[in-house]
Amino acid sequence: MFDITTRDIKYLQGVGPQRAAILNKELGIYSLHDLLYYFPYKYVDRSRLYYIHEIDGNMPYIQLKGEILSFETIGEGRQRRLVAHFSDGTGVIDLVWFQGIKYLTGRYKVHTEYIIFGKPTMFNGRVNVAHPDIDVSSELVLSTMGLQPYYNTTEKMKRGMLNSRALEKLAANMFSLLVEPLPETLPYWLVEKYHLLTLDEALRNIHFPKNPELLRKAQYRLKFEELFYVQLNILRYSKDRQRKFRGLIFGKVGETFNMFYEKNLPFELTNAQKRVIKEIRKDMGSGRQMNRLLQGDVGSGKTLVALMSMLIAIDNGYQACLMAPTEILAGQHYETICRLLFGLNVRVELLTGSVKGKKREEILKGLLTGDVHILIGTHAVLEDTVNFYSLGMVVIDEQHRFGVAQRAKLWNKNVSPPHVLVMTATPIPRTLAMTLYGDLDVSVIDELPPGRKPVQTIHQFDNRRVSLYQGIRKQIEEGRQVYIVYPLIKESEKIDIKNLEEGYEHICEAFPGYKVSKVHGKMKPAEKEEEMQRFVNGETQIMVATTVIEVGVNVPNASVMVIENAERFGLSQLHQLRGRVGRGADQSYCILVTTYKLTEETRKRLEIMVRTNDGFEIAEADLKLRGPGDLEGTQQSGIALDLKIADIARDGQLLQYVREVAQKIVDEDVAGVKPENEILWKQLKALRKTNVNWAAIS
Ligand code: ADP
Ligand code: MG
Repeated sequence: MFDITTRDIKYLQGVGPQRAAILNKELGIYSLHDLLYYFPYKYVDRSRLYYIHEIDGNMPYIQLKGEILSFETIGEGRQRRLVAHFSDGTGVIDLVWFQGIKYLTGRYKVHTEYIIFGKPTMFNGRVNVAHPDIDVSSELVLSTMGLQPYYNTTEKMKRGMLNSRALEKLAANMFSLLVEPLPETLPYWLVEKYHLLTLDEALRNIHFPKNPELLRKAQYRLKFEELFYVQLNILRYSKDRQRKFRGLIFGKVGETFNMFYEKNLPFELTNAQKRVIKEIRKDMGSGRQMNRLLQGDVGSGKTLVALMSMLIAIDNGYQACLMAPTEILAGQHYETICRLLFGLNVRVELLTGSVKGKKREEILKGLLTGDVHILIGTHAVLEDTVNFYSLGMVVIDEQHRFGVAQRAKLWNKNVSPPHVLVMTATPIPRTLAMTLYGDLDVSVIDELPPGRKPVQTIHQFDNRRVSLYQGIRKQIEEGRQVYIVYPLIKESEKIDIKNLEEGYEHICEAFPGYKVSKVHGKMKPAEKEEEMQRFVNGETQIMVATTVIEVGVNVPNASVMVIENAERFGLSQLHQLRGRVGRGADQSYCILVTTYKLTEETRKRLEIMVRTNDGFEIAEADLKLRGPGDLEGTQQSGIALDLKIADIARDGQLLQYVREVAQKIVDEDVAGVKPENEILWKQLKALRKTNVNWAAIS
């Protein structure tokens, strides 16, 4: 069947090659279908006319019917403007234009009945409407206008006369072509059962709502479908994988685990750690391959959970592998784990890019024979030359630095894929975790080990430097170490931010008696590692850095985190940075330094940071303030959350609901063959093809 919506946008009445090029470039609209799915961002009720005597300056929009009494040009130079005195018989207001004066005086006439629409403001005691929409009254049938759609446009588009109003016209032209009902993308039974509008009704009403009720229903239907397919996609993958692979069964808890628990464990596990280990044990004994996301705030003790899970694998005759995003982190894990396993018969090796030659060969051989029980490393463990005797368990630390492809690479290191535990300190709100990692089960460590003093967070304006430095000096004199973090600077940005180099020199001058490390992203990895290591070893007292230190470094002796230009950082980034301190027994501090000029949103961010140390509360607040699009972690994981209408922050409940709907379908139609669902699997296949990232989600 020929699908008219595939037609090139340039053939739509009112477009043509030039505008088509703009639509392609600016909005990614190439076909009628793309325009159909370019939804308005708001609607304005244009069914109602107001009278001038009702208007006050606080109304968002007004619509009046009346006539222009006279024109007047006022002011000189840049102040020059055209004013039309407009009356509807109940009063007079001014319509004002700052541009296109010549053109306008020719276009609009006095004593013609117009409908004008715009935002009222008060100026010199009179109501003004700047750059109003004007239509000849007899040409505009208000009853059919109802809710007028508003479309986002870009500066370039506006220059090409493609404003919201123009897009509205194009959408109208498109619908006049689409006389046949648009083909449905959900099975009929599902549309019925969940009381949804048909796709045809929904798409027509999302652009031109007949009334607010239909608009609401259209939005619901489209959000439902969008989230539903995200979930169906993930659950389908997960089901297919379950059908294809049996999970390795780790049935017993053996000697190594028990010895470790009784003899080596230096402290009591927290209840949260115990609970999570139990969840993991249950997974690994279930016959299903485990894919578990372990979320735990910085310092909550994830490493221990990882280690004990790996010991279960070892007791069942398998090897384990722990992967970290940087050499320094891998090295820290290696040392910690060797120390914790002291005296037990477990061979642990460290494999990074800088392990070469004979040592490397030795490790690779040990992995093949099974003599190496635990391999800890960086990306280097993914290389094809790294092969195991029987890899049963993989732990990925600080997951957001790893892409999905890498996860898949690890699976393939055994005939039956190993169990996977992904650990992250970026607390991802539940709703988002479900969308991103829908097939991962989620465990949460929601409790810090006892005796930790919460980091004290202080917001300080940058003119209080003297007292700030006094505080820092005092901490260093007591033997502590200090981080000072600067925001990343892009070439194009103005130099109103202190750049790292300046900051470094400044700090060296202010603290002449102490040694200062400097680390930033432009340094060579080896250089960076070396400089970090100096700080870790306590050779330097102050670390001046960009956000490269964000992830995972553990220097318990560091007690102060100063964040310069804190207004430039996102909430979760601030929280991650703060997590670098407060790891020892001493009271730690996080100082957020900003200028005086702050936006309302920034003020809120800083308030939240000062008020709470709870990463999940912060993540939720972050999601609400910024929306999911630029939430940290999502970009790095290579997953684009290309939702057109649903909003993860606001539609969490609907997401949960459609997940259940999708789950039920996948459970009842295990092989995906039931005829009444045919349309689902077809649509899913099409979506996977058009959007590569969809497939990557699982
Ligand atoms: P993260 O979750 O950030 O990776 P770590 O695993 O590095 O945290 O643990 C942070 C610190 O807390 C480590 O020094 C670790 O030894 C300590 N720790 C972990 N679990 C406990 C516990 N149950 N009781 C006391 N200290 C603990
Ligand atoms: Mg950690």
